[in-house]
Amino acid sequence: MMNQYRTHYSKDVKKKDYNQSIKVAGWVEDIRNIGSIAFIILRDKKGTLQITILKKQNPDLFKKLVSIPRESVISVRGLCKENTQVRNGYEILPDQVEVLSYAATPLPLGVVDKVEAELDTRLDNRFIDLRKQDKQAIFKIRNIILAAAHEYLRSQGFIEVHTPKIIASSSEGGTNVFRIQYFEKEAFLAQSPQLYKQTLMATGLDRVYEITWYFRAEEHNTRRHLNESTAIDIEMAFIKNEEEIMKILERLVYNMCKKAEEKCRKELDILNKQILIPKIPIPRITYDEVIQKLQEKNSGIQWGEDLGTEDERLLGEIMRENNEHFYFITRYPLETKPFYTMPCKNKYSRSFDLAYNGIEIASGGQRIHDVRLLEERIRRCGLDPKDFDTYLKTFRYGMPPHGGFGFGIERFLMQLLDINNIRECILFPRDRTRLKP
Ligand code: ATP
Ligand code: MG
Repeated sequence: MMNQYRTHYSKDVKKKDYNQSIKVAGWVEDIRNIGSIAFIILRDKKGTLQITILKKQNPDLFKKLVSIPRESVISVRGLCKENTQVRNGYEILPDQVEVLSYAATPLPLGVVDKVEAELDTRLDNRFIDLRKQDKQAIFKIRNIILAAAHEYLRSQGFIEVHTPKIIASSSEGGTNVFRIQYFEKEAFLAQSPQLYKQTLMATGLDRVYEITWYFRAEEHNTRRHLNESTAIDIEMAFIKNEEEIMKILERLVYNMCKKAEEKCRKELDILNKQILIPKIPIPRITYDEVIQKLQEKNSGIQWGEDLGTEDERLLGEIMRENNEHFYFITRYPLETKPFYTMPCKNKYSRSFDLAYNGIEIASGGQRIHDVRLLEERIRRCGLDPKDFDTYLKTFRYGMPPHGGFGFGIERFLMQLLDINNIRECILFPRDRTRLKP
């Protein structure tokens, strides 16, 4: 990664480089000028380093360096000197400085300020916010987790696919869809790849996954909802029941946690966090058991209702008392679930949620593959089968039993790293009021 601006990153300088001329490049994080000597802290991709300049040795260069505004981008050539008093064990004594980009003043957001700015100010200036090590750490961990997901799913015979995000009918039913103008027609942004990944089960590909966008017109600003979020979606065919899907999901989560722990030591240190590795199998509790547990704790929830935020939190607490952080909730009542969910013993369904410390991170289940049952369920959910004709057609000419899940990447990260607001886990969040940057 050497080039004319840089021969070394801050953290890649070794003993053999001492007393050599090297080139470093990055952002001017701090300048301390104490008159006869000045210290410049330069930040690059891998960390920071110190540039030390004596005024009497090179008055012109001294003047140039100390007057560079903070956060400007510079390239420096100089002698790399061992100095055990400097954090990296070395400093750079510059002989040539090139300013590649001057930063305007004042900065809209500080990078090393002791007191952190409000989230809104930070997000308004995300390009600077992301210069902070701890903010970058979240996305480096995210990167490792996704690499682990690709690796695990491929090892299990899943192939990666990409399905349309501009679609003709809403994927999940319900109201939280974004409508868009598609030439003369009305179209929707996909709430999930649900209908398409199911369609692929009619092809013989058998196991597919997609790392995908969800577009959801969630009306309320909450700390765990985004209007544009990402997910790992899978679908698999020839399953006997939902248990086979849960097996894939728990191993996926296990692998992601394990890889994060192994490969993100530095980032976890920066964030001062530890990764909790789930024990496999992750406990499964039925919806009925959940209702009973909640009612024992005086929740007002009634059988047949979906778990509200407060119920989810309370259940998380109950589970934590037994040292369970991850748990599946199985056998939801059919009426709480979307039309494509496979019924089970009349009023139940072959569906599940995976929760992590009181927050849902994934939902899945076996789907209906019988077209007549599917049409009936669509009608029962107050929808019109005619709106789903392309989808329904794929069930008429040979569709194996199948199922899958959708796993929210930002939700998972937020819980994994114990981050209070989901907006921290996506680069440029979209919420009820934020469409920029
Ligand atoms: P919730 O009830 O928590 O709003 P959901 O049941 O509507 O979520 P699903 O349709 O089950 O969501 O989507 C699967 C997963 O995708 C969820 O478990 C969650 O991790 C993630 N997810 C869904 N909607 C959002 C959103 N608006 N913002 C962030 N993540 C989301
Ligand atoms: Mg769900």
